[in-house]
Amino acid sequence: MLKIYNTGSNKKEKFVPMKKGKVGMYTCGMTVYDFAHIGHGRKYVGDDILRRILEWSGYDVKHVQNVTDVGHLSSDEDEGEDKMEKGAIKFGKTVWDVAEFFTDHFFTSMDALNIERPHIICKATDHIPEQIGLVQTLIKKGFAYDTPEAVYFDIDSFKAYGRLFRQKLDDKKTAVRAEVQTGEYKKNPHDFALWFKRVGHFSNHTMYWASPWGDGFPGWHIECSAMSMKYLGETFDIHTGGIDHIPVHHTNEIAQSEAATGKPLAHFWVHHAFLTVNGIKMAKSLGNFITIEEIIKKGYDPLELRFFYLSAHYRQQLNFTWEALDGAKAGYKNLCNLVQTIREKKQDAVIRSKISTHLSDLLTSVTQQFSDAVSDDMNMPKAMAVFFDFLKRVKTEKDLSARDYLAIYDEILRFDTVFGLRVNRPDLKTFEVPSDIQILANEREKARKSKKWAESDRLRDEITSRGFVVEDTANGSTIRPV
Ligand code: AMP
Ligand code: ZN
Repeated sequence: MLKIYNTGSNKKEKFVPMKKGKVGMYTCGMTVYDFAHIGHGRKYVGDDILRRILEWSGYDVKHVQNVTDVGHLSSDEDEGEDKMEKGAIKFGKTVWDVAEFFTDHFFTSMDALNIERPHIICKATDHIPEQIGLVQTLIKKGFAYDTPEAVYFDIDSFKAYGRLFRQKLDDKKTAVRAEVQTGEYKKNPHDFALWFKRVGHFSNHTMYWASPWGDGFPGWHIECSAMSMKYLGETFDIHTGGIDHIPVHHTNEIAQSEAATGKPLAHFWVHHAFLTVNGIKMAKSLGNFITIEEIIKKGYDPLELRFFYLSAHYRQQLNFTWEALDGAKAGYKNLCNLVQTIREKKQDAVIRSKISTHLSDLLTSVTQQFSDAVSDDMNMPKAMAVFFDFLKRVKTEKDLSARDYLAIYDEILRFDTVFGLRVNRPDLKTFEVPSDIQILANEREKARKSKKWAESDRLRDEITSRGFVVEDTANGSTIRPV
């Protein structure tokens, strides 16, 4: 039984999907005005683990993630500079080029961490009509009002404002700041912008669109309400973000969506804790960040970083140090070496024979322990401990046949569908293809040359089932680990 901590109810809850066997999951994406860093890496690996656990539990997941490529202001409140414009000045590019460059950079960085790409990646700038439509609905229903500077959400008209996350409005900062000349027309200082007009402070804004309220650009929060509704429906299963999203962004998203539809936005709210440096959040705006490229340049594999992330529970702050990454490097190597020994021992396995009873008992118990750990609000440090214990048990276990090792190896690969550590390919560059796989590949090549297609396909499947992929090129076939 999968349990997930729900920020909405402040407790761990049994996960029950809205539709049997299916999960709709929305993840707030990055604001693409500067480099993605290893703090983002931690958060998106966390979402990736959640998705992988859901898939491992048998759910068919639809994962949607946005790209904030339209400026929201440098504070999450309606104040400060526009982040996209800030990026454009810093890098001497247009706002559009900045958005494109850093969107690519973000996804390339996340790919390096073996994060599955969301099924739908949606950009705010591609969904302006949907956002305008939602603002119109909110005005029509009496939840928003037009002013000379912006269209604002009227929080006094939405009685549940801030209630899901138990906020006291008195504790909130207000968004009225004389120096940026916004907020002058707000009825309540906590009202937030749905649509900024290209006037006053924003009159030179380069990213803008026509709207029923004049040229301007959407407030930050509205994009997530509009796009989640478009791709996942008015209510969906899981909404994720960083803990910084709780007080403003998600509070405002809930207000907009629920005011418009009269229905709950999401059943589960999952929030990830930060990666810090010297106890302070790693952040683009603070400039204390490290990119994946820097990690690689210093001789680390991004998967060692992924291993490091998994050492802490996602709701606990994790402090980054190079020493800690060195520790993860050693731990990851140890893990891959243990897996490699098993891979070597399973090579002469006879696929159809039975596995030993004592191994069968061990596999049942370890699968249960692994399942208990990941189902307990994604307890990855625990799941990793179960994994290592299992590998160590196997190492000392006597009387295991090659067939047993094959079963163990299969179990390892199943666990790794959740860890995403590619434990079977420790180092692609120096990875040697084991001799039995090479023999199979040679046989397949022979079958192919003599046009025995069925035989060639059967051999390809056998190779794949052992963790390798054959690719046919103009110069013959090549082989690599999956
Ligand atoms: P941003 O566009 O920078 O606001 O970031 C997008 C997502 O990454 C948000 O959910 C943030 O909470 C998350 N994030 C940014 N920095 C960190 C960090 N140092 N640790 C964990 N998550 C972070
Ligand atoms: Zn969002």
